[in-house]
Amino acid sequence: MAHKAYIALGSNLGDREGHLTGALQYISGITGTRILSISNIYETDPVGYTEQGKFLNMVVLVGTSLSPLRLLDELQKMEQEFKRSREIRWGPRTLDADILLYDDIKLDDPRLVIPHPRMLERAFVLIPLKDVNPGFMVGEKTLEDMIQECCDKDGVKLYKKMDNGVGFCG
Ligand code: ATP
Ligand code: CA
Ligand code: CA
Repeated sequence: MAHKAYIALGSNLGDREGHLTGALQYISGITGTRILSISNIYETDPVGYTEQGKFLNMVVLVGTSLSPLRLLDELQKMEQEFKRSREIRWGPRTLDADILLYDDIKLDDPRLVIPHPRMLERAFVLIPLKDVNPGFMVGEKTLEDMIQECCDKDGVKLYKKMDNGVGFCG
């Protein structure tokens, strides 16, 4: 588990909370990967393509021995398992899993860009990220500064408090 990665999860179709908790279970089962901490769950108004239901979003901190691309492979397998459809970009989906950060690396691969290129403009990513990585900074900017600058922050509401002490972590 030499590496640390932050993964954003989102669902806005069917049993949304069930998809998130199912994803936590799935992630704990990925070889060489362990959940270290989970954020609360937030309900968020959709951005981009707005003619769709609200999302539930959360962020998970994992320890992993997988490389970034192997971790992406596993997360994409998980999305397939949840029968995610990809018909509309930013459209409804049972489960979306994005790698936000992986150690301090910068990666620009055709399949994988790290840090996730749109994370800083998304309150539905930054607000749960603050639960698991409150000290995250970009230059002089704190996470709180970045959240305040986000135009969609009012669309993000606490949905369910999650307990880090039991269940998925460890
Ligand atoms: P967004 O990336 O804006 O959140 P999205 O999650 O809806 O949009 P997807 O259709 O899930 O986009 O993913 C499109 C492609 O993005 C994936 O096939 C994957 O190869 C690529 N990708 C690039 N960087 C990342 C990343 N950091 N995490 C996950 N996927 C990534
Ligand atoms: Ca996404
Ligand atoms: Ca994605």
